[in-house]
Amino acid sequence: MATGSINVSVENIFPLIKKFLYSDHEIFLRELISNATDATLKLKHITGIGETKVEYGNPIIEVKIDKEGKKLHIIDQGIGMTENEIKKYINEVAFSGAEEFLEKYKDSAKDSGIIGHFGLGFYSAFMVADKVEIITKSYQDEPAVHWTCDGSPNYTLEETDKKERGTEIILHINDESTEFLEENRIKELLIKYNKFMPIPIKFGTREETKTTGEGDEAKEEKITVDNIINNPNPAWTKQPADLTNEDYKNFYRELYPMQFEEPLFNIHLNVDYPFNLTGILYFPKLTNDINLQKDKIQLYQNQVFVTDNVEGIVPEFLTMLRGVIDSPDIPLNVSRSYLQADQNVKKISSYITRKVADKLQSLFNNNREDFEKKWNDIKIVIEYGMLSEDKFFEKAEKFALYPTIDGKYYTIEELKEKIKDNQTDKDDKLVILYASDKDAQHSYIDEAKERGYEVVLLDSPIVSHLIQKLETTNEKVSFARVDADSLDNLIKKDEDKISKLSEEEKEKLKSTLDKVIPAEKYTVQLEALDSTTSPFVITQPEFMRRMKEMSATGGGMFGM
Ligand code: ADP
Ligand code: MG
Repeated sequence: MATGSINVSVENIFPLIKKFLYSDHEIFLRELISNATDATLKLKHITGIGETKVEYGNPIIEVKIDKEGKKLHIIDQGIGMTENEIKKYINEVAFSGAEEFLEKYKDSAKDSGIIGHFGLGFYSAFMVADKVEIITKSYQDEPAVHWTCDGSPNYTLEETDKKERGTEIILHINDESTEFLEENRIKELLIKYNKFMPIPIKFGTREETKTTGEGDEAKEEKITVDNIINNPNPAWTKQPADLTNEDYKNFYRELYPMQFEEPLFNIHLNVDYPFNLTGILYFPKLTNDINLQKDKIQLYQNQVFVTDNVEGIVPEFLTMLRGVIDSPDIPLNVSRSYLQADQNVKKISSYITRKVADKLQSLFNNNREDFEKKWNDIKIVIEYGMLSEDKFFEKAEKFALYPTIDGKYYTIEELKEKIKDNQTDKDDKLVILYASDKDAQHSYIDEAKERGYEVVLLDSPIVSHLIQKLETTNEKVSFARVDADSLDNLIKKDEDKISKLSEEEKEKLKSTLDKVIPAEKYTVQLEALDSTTSPFVITQPEFMRRMKEMSATGGGMFGM
């Protein structure tokens, strides 16, 4: 038997990485800015724990286009690299300096927000560039170095005279990728992927008006400032206690600048065990012009935008919500089918379901009036959730509302209580009368109301499924549409239950009545018919005769 190791040669693998690693070429910028961010966060960390005397300062990242030179520059003021580090981190494909850092500073760095993972991101630069240069100076007292590579496995490495700490990456954009030399295209990418990254990102400059002096002395002055494209401290990274309602609304506008309708309410997510997840979800007001395709939930990893396709991570019924989810624990570079089978992802999905249900319950408990007002806007999500997730159904049964035609809102338990003496059928089931179209069914609704029945309005498109579900989970309940023959099948329970007179009283009453009412003309019946208040009725014989006939043939309504 022979053993050996498979020989992977860089010559073979390099073009594959370039071609197939990422389907989307545009993500190179996200990867390089992530590296620049990591380099800065690493410096923050080691200055924070006092491992170096170097000052952290206020580092920023800069992106610059050199259109004539066909170059794109990404410059950071982070940790930098020594010659040895270049050899280790850059020349070895798939060696992640980010992972090594996290391993080294295990306990203290676990919340540092370091993004890198697989040691492949840097090479995505070769998808859009013929040649890549790195000019870098480490925070350690070592000479700066200059690395160049033209996409073949050969590189050059030499000392250079860069003075400031940090790294500059220079991409020589290839002929197929000149779009990345356009200001608008880069701006679009920065806003898409880097809008909430934790280190300020400068892209060009802008004019600002500054007022100096006071009163009559006040002067307005135009000054040029760095154009920072990101908000390094987005709301979801803060504690709920530090945020006002207004903050949540502002963040919604920041996320969806084209959305003018205010959200109905928000749900702040925050877990660190058994997985890490933060985020804010919003229940939007569902208007007709809502763009469900465009304004979707966005998924981030350590504040880097990943995707707005959250299928499999967020339960389907909640994909109508908006907002952000940020988790370093979602395996992002793997296929969707794997994602759906991943245990962590399943846990995340059920956590989100639970959190949404709990929030709805607390809104219901704390301000029922407001909850009722919002019901019409949120019911489609809730009803859909009740149908698709049993866990959600169990919780939602306590706050899902059934509005009556008269504008009252009942939970299912309240509704049962309300109708229990008045609306049962021959099998002793409670019958919930409902209308699905207030206008078309109005005459039936009026009829039912006249007879003293409650009619609820169930008009969402999935209502027939919901009814089925409610009937299977509430054994003693059945739903009947108000315009079916339902009204006649209802029994007013209280009347045949309540005996108003004792036998003795009946005897007394009967003999008294017999004395005053001529028996040949009238019949006296005690506790008869559907009289709710009278202890007896007096009817004419003809009528009685017919009644007796009916009860003899099995009508049996009068049970005396
Ligand atoms: P990852 O980020 O997953 O670790 P990359 O291929 O993106 O892998 O980068 C490889 C390594 O190169 C990083 O882990 C880091 O150590 C080093 N590196 C890349 N860019 C920079 C930079 N701008 N400053 C300092 N180090 C960098
Ligand atoms: Mg990286």
